[in-house]
Amino acid sequence: STPESVLSINNIEVVYDEVIQVLRGVSIEVPQGQIVTLLGPNGAGKSTTLKAISGLLRTENGEVTRGDIHFQGKRIDKQAPEQVVRDGLFQVMEGRRIIEDMTVIENLKLGAYTRTDGEIQQDIDMVFSYFPRLQERTGLAGYLSGGEQQMLAIGRALMARPKMICLDEPSMGLSPLLVKEVFGIIDKINKEQGITMLLVEQNANYALKAADYGYIMESGKIVLDGTKQQLLANEDVKEFYLGGG
Ligand code: ATP
Repeated sequence: STPESVLSINNIEVVYDEVIQVLRGVSIEVPQGQIVTLLGPNGAGKSTTLKAISGLLRTENGEVTRGDIHFQGKRIDKQAPEQVVRDGLFQVMEGRRIIEDMTVIENLKLGAYTRTDGEIQQDIDMVFSYFPRLQERTGLAGYLSGGEQQMLAIGRALMARPKMICLDEPSMGLSPLLVKEVFGIIDKINKEQGITMLLVEQNANYALKAADYGYIMESGKIVLDGTKQQLLANEDVKEFYLGGG
């Protein structure tokens, strides 16, 4: 039996500036509690897909012109970004977007801005348990290394107590060792907190190992999808995405 989808993207088309069509009928299902990865080359439309989910397309004059997106049964493709976060879907954007002239703890508290309960300190401790090295960094976030900034961005997402996190290229700009560490923590957070994840990546090797299921996007369309095992065994995936192994 297939687990119920938390996020359901149904045949969406996305257009920028009213004429530039970037997504051409994309459907993606993200089941409760799973890690799903969206892979594909530069410019395929992966970030655009995440922006359609999070309500951020409008800030770039983009629009979902066909199809629909449901999160926990509620239609969200016309919804404002703040409301999507309040509904429990948090996006960690490409390039990390932490606030450089604030401290680690101030950045973490920002992640909790939609919450009204008082358990903020408890959750800061929870984030530090996943990312112990962040606790040692008491200066401004701008002085953190690239890897530490990525960890802070993920930690800030956790502070929102989300049901689901969308991650845009968490491996970008990190050394192989750090990529391994960050993916290990993503996996741990998924298992321990039960947070559903959609992981956009160009680094197919790590993403597929962490994921339960994957989709491959090229030129605004899904060209292949399958379980981790199916995709890792697929000859085209091996040749074009896993370095010809
Ligand atoms: P990358 O890994 O480079 O981020 P991607 O798969 O995430 O690639 P997108 O960033 O979604 O791809 O871009 C898909 C296409 O949409 C590209 O051709 C890009 O030039 C175009 N595009 C993205 N943002 C805009 C925008 N704001 N206005 C017009 N075109 C855009």
